[in-house]
Amino acid sequence: MIQHVAAAVCTLYSVAYSGYFLTHLARHLMCGFRAAPPPGTKAAPAPPLAPSASQEEAKEEEDSSELPAVLGDAGELPSVPGDDSELPAALGDEGEHPALWEYSGEAPAVWDKDSGHLPAWDEGSGCPLVRDEDGQAPMVWDEDRGHPVLWKEEGNIVSVEDPAEKYLEVEQIGQGAFGTVSKGLDRATGGEVAIKKMSLRGQNGERAVNELLLLKDKKNPNIVNSLDSFLVDGDLWLVMEYMDGGTLQDVVRQTCMAEGEMAAVSRECLQGLDFLHANRVIHRDLKSSNILLGMAGSVKLADFGLCAQLSSEQDRRSSMVGTAHWMAPEVVTSSPYGPKVDIWSFGIVTIEMVEGEPPYFKETRAMARALIRHNGTPQLQEPRRLSALLRDFLECSLEPDEEQRWSAQELLQHPFLSSAKPLSSLTPLITAAKQLREQQRR
Ligand code: ATP
Repeated sequence: MIQHVAAAVCTLYSVAYSGYFLTHLARHLMCGFRAAPPPGTKAAPAPPLAPSASQEEAKEEEDSSELPAVLGDAGELPSVPGDDSELPAALGDEGEHPALWEYSGEAPAVWDKDSGHLPAWDEGSGCPLVRDEDGQAPMVWDEDRGHPVLWKEEGNIVSVEDPAEKYLEVEQIGQGAFGTVSKGLDRATGGEVAIKKMSLRGQNGERAVNELLLLKDKKNPNIVNSLDSFLVDGDLWLVMEYMDGGTLQDVVRQTCMAEGEMAAVSRECLQGLDFLHANRVIHRDLKSSNILLGMAGSVKLADFGLCAQLSSEQDRRSSMVGTAHWMAPEVVTSSPYGPKVDIWSFGIVTIEMVEGEPPYFKETRAMARALIRHNGTPQLQEPRRLSALLRDFLECSLEPDEEQRWSAQELLQHPFLSSAKPLSSLTPLITAAKQLREQQRR
């Protein structure tokens, strides 16, 4: 009942006014109703040390966009364009392979570890030639067809048909930094699908193939399911199950979640991470906008363009990859890291569920990285509002020492998760978030 009253108050606010400020005001009102301080919670911990990032670092960047950044190392893409502070590209993981930023004036080149020479790049097509785990180059330029083909030993890994024959495109639903996403319909079944179109040219190519290969191989109920893939005029079209509830970011920004709902989302995310980590995959860009929801409450991890496959030869990475505000301390310090960087990012997602945004969100990316480096575990704005169990859950995820930080498997045993509500409890939140977004759009 209280939830409905609170939702109605929020709705009235956003009907009357629009914009960031009032949305946040409405969210606070809702949180006031839903998250009264639990009895017996301990006093708030001491405030964090004053931000000690250098002014120089603060000047590095003036915006706090959520663009993921990639610093080059052996076999990985260098920085995204515009993130000048992170150029030039760094040395490789072991420090011995240079990763060149530019090749032919525009495209990044990557060092081919196996052949030991530069570049793993097709000059004619402008396409990167990337290798899968077995050292196979899955993408090659086909002179006759005039576009790249993707292959594995057993044959093509993308469909050769015309996607328009199988799917009807309905509308564009997403615009990421690396491509567009449209809603489509399967002509045979009428089922809804999402079609992500990514260019294989330029520096996005490796990212697109990375995502394709991951989604082809790794199937799990908490990982968005890929259904099909096509090559269209040098672009990769990835057809995925359609997640009709939007992103977790919409929910955390527009509504206020109860702890039982946070626990339900956390459990689903941890199951997805546990699956990835058991397969030695690091997501490296976990944030609420990369967690997709179904209207019935399903929760799935998405956007695998930056993921890394570890192997017995390379069981750590060191390139600065991810989105600044969600980066683990070992990432911002360019130390060797493993799958637990995702656990830190997951802890930041949990803070998003509590506060609507990650720590240091008003700060530039450079300042955010500096604060992560200096402050370690971020402090909550209003810790007294949270149960002792949730505070402990956060501390276990946001432990600065990677060794001490809990794994996904360990966190799945944390008693906070036993407070999880049924996934169907997410439906009203998703509906409210959709309505509020719709009103803001008008
Ligand atoms: P980013 O800039 O976050 O890296 P990207 O270009 O890699 O973005 P995605 O994050 O995969 O693209 O998708 C962009 C948006 O498209 C998502 O935020 C979401 O709103 C929508 N979207 C992506 N996949 C799906 C899906 N399977 N079902 C429904 N919507 C989706």
